[in-house]
Amino acid sequence: MKWSSSYLYTLKEVPADAEIPSHQLMVRGGYIKKLAQGIYTYGPLALRAIRKFEAIVRDELNKRNCVELLMPMVQPKELWEETNRWSEMGKGLLKFKNRTDQEYCLGATHEEVITDYVRKDIKSYRDLPVNLYQVQTKYRDEIRPRFGLMRGREFIMKDAYSFDPDEEAAKKSYQLMREAYTDIFTRVGADFRTVKADSGNIGGNLSEEFHILAETGEDGLLVGEGFAANVEVCPAIEANPADNSSVKEEKLEKFETKGLKTIDDLAKATKQPASSLVKSLFFEASKKESDQLVKPICVLLKGSDEMNPIKLKNFLGMANPPRMLTDEEVKQVTGASPGSCGPVGLEIPIFMDTAVDNMKNYTVGANVDDYHLKNVNHGRDFKVAKLMDLRVAREGDKNPEGEGTLQGYRGIEVGHIFYLGNKYSKAMKATYLDQGGKAKPIEMGCYGIGISRVVQAVIEQSHDKDGIIWPKSIAPYEVHICLLDPKDQEIVGLANSLYEELKVEGIDCLLDDRDERPGVKFKDADLLGMPLRLVLGRRGMDEGALELVERATKKVHKLSADKIKSKILELLK
Ligand code: ATP
Ligand code: MG
Repeated sequence: MKWSSSYLYTLKEVPADAEIPSHQLMVRGGYIKKLAQGIYTYGPLALRAIRKFEAIVRDELNKRNCVELLMPMVQPKELWEETNRWSEMGKGLLKFKNRTDQEYCLGATHEEVITDYVRKDIKSYRDLPVNLYQVQTKYRDEIRPRFGLMRGREFIMKDAYSFDPDEEAAKKSYQLMREAYTDIFTRVGADFRTVKADSGNIGGNLSEEFHILAETGEDGLLVGEGFAANVEVCPAIEANPADNSSVKEEKLEKFETKGLKTIDDLAKATKQPASSLVKSLFFEASKKESDQLVKPICVLLKGSDEMNPIKLKNFLGMANPPRMLTDEEVKQVTGASPGSCGPVGLEIPIFMDTAVDNMKNYTVGANVDDYHLKNVNHGRDFKVAKLMDLRVAREGDKNPEGEGTLQGYRGIEVGHIFYLGNKYSKAMKATYLDQGGKAKPIEMGCYGIGISRVVQAVIEQSHDKDGIIWPKSIAPYEVHICLLDPKDQEIVGLANSLYEELKVEGIDCLLDDRDERPGVKFKDADLLGMPLRLVLGRRGMDEGALELVERATKKVHKLSADKIKSKILELLK
């Protein structure tokens, strides 16, 4: 593509709302342009990278007998009500009415639509297995869209759905997709990890995420020998817990703590580490099936630990993490403000984190404003309804499935695979007749890749101070030709013939034929980030030393005109 006949605009300034490098670079490079919060136009270069990535995805899926289709973006309310997700998904679904007052939403995911599609066709075990996928625009009304394509409201996803006769076959389909995803991200050339994950409100219980590693990633990952998990679901086991079994239980004492509101205040004032204090948190819990409130509950954690809402949600079998009580509600339940609350004397269920179990003689709120209790011991001073793992795991915790301890990484979730079981097929009556002629719900799996997010995540992992460093797998163009003397007929002729010859070899060039200074062209080439930059100018031509520069390493190859094509082919192999 010639720059002069394309539509490319670069910016010098860093856009004010772009916080992370990949977002800044994509905007500066004209890859994306914001239309509204979380809604972007993909410019011609971004679209090329997206198409190249899609081609890898399609290739790996088609190879594994997945079949592509395309489902509607606008979906009727009635379908979502069959699975109760019209209400469960809350405001994440963008809902609206048409002129005759019928209610619809924009597709945030397509389990309902695909299940409806297959239930009309699949009759018998002979119709199974099936794996259907699409590459499509999704809309999720994210609360805080940010970081450009990373968390958009409108974004491109590849979603696939598997249908099998039984659990064993469904788990095979899951493993096949796991393999496909591994091959996809390996082909992209990204540094990624596959981790155990929460199933969210999609359902099911076997689920893994694929993360491209990057310091700015939104997700915490914990990785050990033979084990990797999203911190959301990682079991928390202290590597070297203290043994307090022989410590004597002291006498309970109430003391004044006026003005001490937080664990930090209390730790400072009492000269104890936060890890020897216990904090009490209060939530409203409801059972998923009945929506019946078992509210409220109290959760106890070590002062230095953080609660993991996903663990509590999963324990309670709720669709979404439980809501924390307001200060006012806490006061109604305990008689005191949140800074002075504790478990002693409460009539509500108390869930205790396992890390508190071996603590003795600790300090908690007294349920009287401005007072705390010290030398508190569970069992003696209050009853624990349930002891469980509720805290956020961290680096240095014990590896729950192997040797040694866990190491922390930051990751960007680019893919997610789920074994769903029959949650959707049962709710939507998608059944098949087995060999004995008995109707059974189809076993399902679902598998997503954030196509637009991947393209930006690759940049987040691969860039330098000057710009993007595309891996050749999804680079919009492989070669960026800087034409320095656009009026010199010999140079122009060489550029054009190289352009054509490389095209025959399947290599796409971007030819910068603008009437601009060399410095401007080089800066733009670095910013846009194609793997190779070829500099074609009079001087290099006369000296027989034309420059071919590798973007990633800035390594310069000086070559005569006749060697260029073979060198490019060699470097891109
Ligand atoms: P997240 O936890 O990041 O909100 P999710 O777990 O809700 O994502 P899934 O339902 O698993 O997302 O969707 C499949 C894939 O779609 C994700 O792995 C991610 O790559 C991509 N994705 C999800 N939400 C967004 C978004 N708002 N913008 C861009 N890509 C997204
Ligand atoms: Mg996910």
